[in-house]
This record gives sequence, structure tokens and C-alpha cells, in this order.
Amino acid sequence: MKDQITALSALQGIDLVLRELERNLENYPKEISRLKEELKNEKESIEKLKEELNQIKKHKNELESKLSHNQSSIKKAEKKLFEIKTYKEYEALQKEIAEIKKSNAELEEEILKEMENIESLEALIKEKEQGFSHKEKEYEKKINEYTKKIEELKVTYEAKKQERNKVASLINPSVLSVYERIRKRNGLAVVPARNEVCMGCNMNIPPQLFNEVLTLTKVIQCPNCHRILYVEEEIIHREAQTA
Ligand SMILES: [Zn+2]
Repeated sequence: MKDQITALSALQGIDLVLRELERNLENYPKEISRLKEELKNEKESIEKLKEELNQIKKHKNELESKLSHNQSSIKKAEKKLFEIKTYKEYEALQKEIAEIKKSNAELEEEILKEMENIESLEALIKEKEQGFSHKEKEYEKKINEYTKKIEELKVTYEAKKQERNKVASLINPSVLSVYERIRKRNGLAVVPARNEVCMGCNMNIPPQLFNEVLTLTKVIQCPNCHRILYVEEEIIHREAQTA
């Protein structure tokens, strides 16, 4: 029975390592996805800014072609001024020219504003792109590291799994099934009993039962948490001496 308890204890140690490995095997891929997602979002936000820039440029072009159209209208009207016969016609044409000039002044102002918008947006895009390429390099490095780590973890995990099978094969199947059942429910399945107290749940163990734990003749479970109890080597020694 002593060998059984020792094997159970070893098995529990392996299971704890396996659980930690499993956690890492879940976390690293999650972290990789998170990094990829962040890069994707950032790239999309830069694309949106570029789209906005194109719209502004398009609008500026429209304003410019309107302006040049107006300018040729003014030239035509000014030529016409020489062919005018009546003052009334002259006055009407002058008024028309003045109106076009006024609207051109507005167009020029608007074009200037759009040029400023283009300039600041281009600067922002450049800054964001530089930041992005820096981040992309950094994240790619991390992703490569994590991918390598996952491969290493898989190898370690497989080796541990083999080790587990070997240790589990040393344990009596009925004892093993008790262990598995408690482990699923309580996490730790094998705990020490010290001074007649279960270290799993901190409850007192009846003296008679504690004595049975000491004799190591069969698997003893804590009456409260049902974990498998064992007594550490030096304590058995001490109890044996005082007995
Ligand atoms: Zn207990």
C-alpha cells in the first residue's frame, strides 16, 4: 500500500504539471489570436483614414474644376463687355461677373481648407503607418516565439502523458478510479494528514482513522472531503518511535 500511495502522490504531481501545460497550450494560441486581431484592427483603421483622404482629394478636385470653369466664364463675360450696346446689358453683365468672382473667392477658401485637411491627414496616416509597421514587426516576433513555445509545450506534454501512463499502470485500478473521481471534483486528490488533521479541508480526522492512515494497509479517505490521505515519512517514523 505504501507503494500505491507513493505512486498516487507521483501521479498527482504529474497531473498538476499536465494541467499547467494544458493551460499554457490554451493560452498561447489565444494570445496569438489577440495579437493578430489587434494588428488587423489597426490596419483597418489606417485603411479608413486613407479612404477619408481620397474623399477629401476628390472633393478638392471637384472644387478646382468648378473654379476653373468659373474663371473661363469670367473671361468670356469680360470679352462680351466690349460688344455690349446698352448700359442696362452692361450693368447686368458686370453684376454677373461680380457674382462669379464672389463665388470663386469662396471656392478658393474652401480649396485651401481642404488642402490643409489633406496635409494633416497625410501626416496622421504616415505616423500611423510607421507605428503600425513597428508594431507589426514586434508582434510577428512574439507570434513566432509563441508558436515555437506551443511546439515545445506539445512535446513536453506528450512526454509527461507517457510518464503518467507509466505511473498510473503501477496503481491498482480501483484505487486509481477513486483518485480520478476525487480529482475531478476537488482538484487535489491526495493530501497529507498532519496531527490528525486533513490538509485538504482542515478538518479533524478521528484518531482511529488516523491510525489506519499510519499503518498504510489500505486507502483511507478523509471522512469530510473524501481525499486520499497519507502521512509524511518522518511522521510515521516519529509515531512508530513513541508507540
Ligand atoms: Zn479532508
